[in-house]
Amino acid sequence: MAEIDLMDKLVSLCKRRGFVFQSSEIYGGTGSVWDYGPLGVELKRAIKDAWWKAMVLERDDIEGLDAAILMHPRVWEASGHVEGFTDPLVECRECRRRFRADLPELEGGRCPVCGTPDAFGEPRLFNLMFKTFMGPVEDAASQVYLRPETAQGIYVNFLNVQTASRQKIPFGIAQIGKAFRNEITPGNFIFRTREFEQAEMQYFVEPGTDEEWFEYWKEARFQWHLSLGIRREKLRFHEHTPQELAHYAKKAVDIEYEFPFGWKEFEGIHNRTDFDLSRHQEYSGKRLEYIDAPANKRFIPYVIETSVGVDRTLLVVLADAYREEMVEGEERVVLSLKPALAPIKVAVFPLVKKDGLPEIAERIHKELRAAAVSSFYDDSGSIGRRYRRQDEAGTPWCVTVDGQTHQDGTVTIRDRDTLQQVRVPAEGVLKWVRERLA
Ligand code: ATP
Repeated sequence: MAEIDLMDKLVSLCKRRGFVFQSSEIYGGTGSVWDYGPLGVELKRAIKDAWWKAMVLERDDIEGLDAAILMHPRVWEASGHVEGFTDPLVECRECRRRFRADLPELEGGRCPVCGTPDAFGEPRLFNLMFKTFMGPVEDAASQVYLRPETAQGIYVNFLNVQTASRQKIPFGIAQIGKAFRNEITPGNFIFRTREFEQAEMQYFVEPGTDEEWFEYWKEARFQWHLSLGIRREKLRFHEHTPQELAHYAKKAVDIEYEFPFGWKEFEGIHNRTDFDLSRHQEYSGKRLEYIDAPANKRFIPYVIETSVGVDRTLLVVLADAYREEMVEGEERVVLSLKPALAPIKVAVFPLVKKDGLPEIAERIHKELRAAAVSSFYDDSGSIGRRYRRQDEAGTPWCVTVDGQTHQDGTVTIRDRDTLQQVRVPAEGVLKWVRERLA
């Protein structure tokens, strides 16, 4: 399968099966934002839950936070975003389309849309923050920004969280939330959009221990991606060269995935030093020091940041799970999602719509639902068709109630990946599934 093809196939599968829709599609769409449908919202939630579990629930040293999207405008002056959160932009003199100047397609100076040679002048800097107004007056004093990253909400709450939770350094603060960037050239489906979700964790450490903690988080985050079932050979680190380093970073490494359109970042781990807290201390006039009473020390902590895009991770998970294969002489499309991530865990089928089979199947289906194991009941079409529909949705197990169920009380459970079927007592289905989800 050509790699570029894979992207088209994924986009079409996502629409067909209700993972991802174009935003405002009936109005022609926006091209730069996407909506998550019934299966997509479950997959996204499962990814966020897995992150929250690993980063907050399983740890004593990380606290959660949910800061607001709108913040005091001075925050973005302190963070450097007002001045420096820019991309170079060029405009075609013929068709007036605008592009990010560093796009590889622009090499040679020809406009990739209308083909005009030598189409571009000097790039100018374009700020990526969305602006809006707070309150009824639209003047400069009421201008605010939609946050372009969730991190700043954590920094300004650093002392609130530390005091309330009585954490001692080293400790972290984690949050998942929306971020907005007015990207000049969004694209590649949900890879680069103007509204997206980030899962970020800022880990506050004593200066001097930062390099060690950087290595720790680099490794821990790589392991987390493996724990989602992503293939090892599709993941790699990319360390930023001094030219690539952001203004706040002492060191930065990306975790990249080999997407159908090439190796690209989907998580960044950054050593942000004391840049952010020092700047907020300076701009707010409030002390943001940590006091280590037993050691009789006070200092501004260094920050190790882990920042992953939820939407990009979802694209990684889908691209990594997508397979086309021949099964019993027929082609099937299957999403080999890790069961914990699958939007539907179990599908339940009566082999035929008679002889009391639907009643037994419905009982199993309801029992699963009541236990919060997402189950889908399907009695329409041939059993082969029903399997295919679930394969495409990434459902790991299909339960079929058949004639033998009346004789010995068992049903078959078919595994999505191995296609093997086992017979399990009808009352044992929930337990069987739970053991495999744990
Ligand atoms: P890029 O170089 O791709 O623009 P970045 O280096 O600006 O990304 P960061 O600011 O480090 O990205 O943001 C951390 C993570 O947030 C990224 O690794 C990515 O997963 C996600 N992210 C950033 N921008 C977008 C976007 N426009 N759409 C979707 N996700 C994004």
